Amino acid sequence: MQEYSQPRTEKLEFPHPSNKVLMHSCCAPCAGELMEAIAEAGIEQTIFFYNPNIHPLKEYNIRKEENIRYAEKLGIPFIDADYDVQDWFARAKGMERDPERGRRCTMCFDMRFARTALYAAENGFNVITSSLGISRWKNMEQINDCGKRMASAYDGVEYWDYNWRKDGGGARMYEIAKREEFYAQQYCGCIYSLRDTNEWRESKGREKIEIGETWYEEKLQGKNDS
Ligand code: SF4
Repeated sequence: MQEYSQPRTEKLEFPHPSNKVLMHSCCAPCAGELMEAIAEAGIEQTIFFYNPNIHPLKEYNIRKEENIRYAEKLGIPFIDADYDVQDWFARAKGMERDPERGRRCTMCFDMRFARTALYAAENGFNVITSSLGISRWKNMEQINDCGKRMASAYDGVEYWDYNWRKDGGGARMYEIAKREEFYAQQYCGCIYSLRDTNEWRESKGREKIEIGETWYEEKLQGKNDS
């Protein structure tokens, strides 16, 4: 049992007799608290890593490897799903300038939950959940709506909308990330969030984050529709 400044006080109440969850993970820093909480509650879990919204590819691989490293440490099965980034960009068309928490993010959550729910339906999971909502930068209601909507497409699959921030979850998330020395990402994931972060950094006189991969740079400039 780890020591935390805000230890967990509530027992997790799992919403289904199967006691087994497919947990969509967006990254190790966010998923760390869920992984520990679910394991400590004696709930069987499998991590589903499906995040074609993380750009460029180098950044995607870093975030994924960090998550695999921690899953291996805790002995949690890890499903490495596709990186169908072309499909993500096709769906994001026309929403490139939308602000974070807007339509593009709804599309992005829907896409990730749709694949998670499909995998759950095909592989005997009745419950899915996600690390996406633990970050205070995210709109939890927007995420829960997407999760429930996508799960409802499959009989016998439900979305567990537990508030992972409560009972000190948000604080432990940071403590776990620090203790495990997770790679600290500087933007949400897509090149549009990277662009917006860089515009903000520029306005504050801070150094910009380089993309460093031509395909994505062209995509950001609207030159690459492949
Ligand atoms: S800002 Fe984040 S949640 Fe929104 S579309 Fe980009 S990667 Fe997805």
